[in-house]
Amino acid sequence: MSSQKLKIGILGATGIVGQNYIKLLINHPWFDIVDLAASPNSAGKSYEEAVKDKWQMSTNIPEKIKGLIVRDVQDYKNLPSDLDFVFSAVNMPSKDQIKEVELNYAKNDIPVVSNNSAHRSSPDIPMIIGEINHNHTDVIGFQKKLRGLSKGFIVVKPNCSIQSYMTPIYALKEAGYEVNKLIVTTLQAVSGAGYPGVSSLDMIDNIVPYIGNEEEKTENEPLKIFGTIGENGIINNTSIEISATCTRVPVNDGHTACASIKFKDKIPERDEIIDIWTNFKSLPQKLNLPFAPIQPIIYLDKIDRPQPKKDRDNDKGMAVTVGRLRKDNIFDYKFIGLSHNTIRGAAGGAILNAEILKVRGFFE
Ligand code: NAP
Repeated sequence: MSSQKLKIGILGATGIVGQNYIKLLINHPWFDIVDLAASPNSAGKSYEEAVKDKWQMSTNIPEKIKGLIVRDVQDYKNLPSDLDFVFSAVNMPSKDQIKEVELNYAKNDIPVVSNNSAHRSSPDIPMIIGEINHNHTDVIGFQKKLRGLSKGFIVVKPNCSIQSYMTPIYALKEAGYEVNKLIVTTLQAVSGAGYPGVSSLDMIDNIVPYIGNEEEKTENEPLKIFGTIGENGIINNTSIEISATCTRVPVNDGHTACASIKFKDKIPERDEIIDIWTNFKSLPQKLNLPFAPIQPIIYLDKIDRPQPKKDRDNDKGMAVTVGRLRKDNIFDYKFIGLSHNTIRGAAGGAILNAEILKVRGFFE
């Protein structure tokens, strides 16, 4: 029953990621949307009115959501008193503003499950991919102490393309085959830039070989995800070196990554790698969480796959689809990874994180 569900809010509810939250959460068994917030331009309007020119989902705005009045993200006076936590997908002119907003919610005893990059490099704030480093929730106690928080805290998820190659690399590491060098080129969809994003004249018939700050995120965030918890928070892993090139391509949804990997010592056979990926399962699968893909890594043994249009929606957009595993002339192997950037890489990935937090009692 709805009254037994946790009451949640969405910061940045009118944006691309915010719309995905609404679409994905409307029938969620544990979470009930009760509060929507966006910029001062949308504040005071019904949700339907606020998104009338920019609703991008293939389904209609759910009836129950249409009439909700959008709050200004920074209007703390009118925060519902019974919010259990918020998802944050707010975009603001500066990262410092986003940091401040998210921290203000945490100080108001409202946990924040974020998509933003603003807090990703803070050692006390876990940056989680559910199948890889769910144990980083253990740093939340340290975070609360450090920042003087009581019930509130902040958890983030990483950049939208990372899981497409880091989940396969993690599965190999778990099986005893550690990768210590990675060269990756991403081909990122236009929805990754939000709405209205890159102009159509810049995108159609074109590839843009630069996305601001994306290569730095791609090279650094995996080090924290593979990190360990020390006395002062998460200590980055230094045993993997990454070189990234990030491009924007004329695809609506679905970030593709071309990855070349080198193993630290033992090199598995190709069939063994595919076997490891296909059988990989982690905590979200063991707990059978509502947003957990049944098979987190799907390997397609077809020479021309994965493709964004055909494979991004695998397992409700939550699975990583991999293909074209072959020998590399310079490193050991190369492969193509694909994941849905606004679902697995944004709203869906954060919902999975919130499910882990709920099961672990962090919202009580
Ligand atoms: P978006 O479509 O541009 O939406 C931005 C949201 O932030 C809207 O709700 C907007 O409200 C709100 N906003 C803008 N300026 C604001 C202000 N000054 N004060 C309060 N709210 C403000 O962006 P998006 O693609 O959904 O991305 C949202 C965040 O998630 C970004 O930080 C992005 O980096 C991150 N992210 C995006 C993706 C992706 O694939 N798109 C993936 C992972 C992470 P109005 O509608 O009222 O202007």
